[in-house]
Amino acid sequence: MRSFIIFCLSFYVVFAKHEIYDGHALYDINVKTIDEGRVVNDLENELLLDVWTHAVPGRAGQVLVPKVKRKIFENALKGAGVEYNVQVENIKDQLELEDQKLAAAAARSSRNSSRFSFDYIPTYEEVDAYLEDLARRYEHVRVHVAGTSVQGRPIKYLAVSTTNFQNFRKPIVVMQSLLHSREWVSLAATLYAIEKLVVDVTESDLLENLDWIIIPVVNPDGYTWTHSNARFWRKNRRTGLMAGDFCIGVDLNRNFNSQWSTASSSNVCADDFHGPGAMSEPETRAIANLLATFTTRIALFFDIHSFGSMILYGWGGNGVLPPHALTLNLVAVRMAQAIDAAKLPTNPNYVVGNIAHVLYFASGGASDFAMLTGVQLSYTYELPAWRNHNWSLNGFLVDPDFIEQAGVETWEGIKAGARYAIGNFRAKDV
Ligand SMILES: [Zn+2]
Repeated sequence: MRSFIIFCLSFYVVFAKHEIYDGHALYDINVKTIDEGRVVNDLENELLLDVWTHAVPGRAGQVLVPKVKRKIFENALKGAGVEYNVQVENIKDQLELEDQKLAAAAARSSRNSSRFSFDYIPTYEEVDAYLEDLARRYEHVRVHVAGTSVQGRPIKYLAVSTTNFQNFRKPIVVMQSLLHSREWVSLAATLYAIEKLVVDVTESDLLENLDWIIIPVVNPDGYTWTHSNARFWRKNRRTGLMAGDFCIGVDLNRNFNSQWSTASSSNVCADDFHGPGAMSEPETRAIANLLATFTTRIALFFDIHSFGSMILYGWGGNGVLPPHALTLNLVAVRMAQAIDAAKLPTNPNYVVGNIAHVLYFASGGASDFAMLTGVQLSYTYELPAWRNHNWSLNGFLVDPDFIEQAGVETWEGIKAGARYAIGNFRAKDV
């Protein structure tokens, strides 16, 4: 009886957790001019809406609007003459669909445990167990702790090296995901890379000539929260930022010490709140310490996000290009072409360029910070938002049919970048 009650309670928790999104509608916004884009942006900030994509001329924006704000939002758009349409009337339905699809895929995959499953999105604990298991099974693989999250969870990374990081002429590739906790599909890219570097090795040159540091879950508290309470949570779980903790969390990809606070929000309640100070968060400091430890040898840095099918480089805060921008762009184009050759035909080609030019001004980002520490090739990937044929799941939501595909196609880009790094890396003087 007791276990039946627990079963019922856990059932309730699983299916009640999306209540906070009940009645939230997803809007497509089409702006004709940059001025219209500014009007929409100001409105979104004023109403503290959850912006999925910023609307710019030629590219529709997507924004999630709670039921109580829909009327005022629509009236303001109409008043400004901005075109919009409601893509999803109630996002809660889509969240429940995602749960069902992932649960069904997980149930199917448990029958075949011979390899790590890319049928569903593993939890923080499952990723942790996987990393520890690999370190036990493979001599050239180690697990280390880069730091500890606000709530005390270890931020672990996998170190893969055939020479135990002792060959100082070998360049290092650093790859991380889930800095933004709701961008679940980004995890598939890092886990697939691990699989290809450790378990199913078909590119031995990438192991012989490079060392690898991979941090699958940079924001473990936020990520755990997306599984337990709020699927669209983006920030970390920092409290004590304002009286009564009415709003919590810092956007970790605005918290790094790279043009900090110049193009991000100082509003604690905003999704891009940059934190009380540069590097104020233990998660960003963990990454900074890791980069500092290996600073002379890191040739390539990947910060994996979703969504948008983009490969982006600095500087994000002001849109200024670094002196080696042509090289950054050349390598990004090679990576994009490699991904495009393997992508689903229904997804768009990757777009390559400066963060501020292609996406929007954003300061304090991880890839900018890595470049500031001396990493020549530093990129933010925005993986595709996969939409199935009836356009149901999209944006941050993950269809199990796309998880392995996201890993496979992103790996093509990582490989292309890594091979460029092998041929062109010049070790810096210590
Ligand atoms: Zn992101």
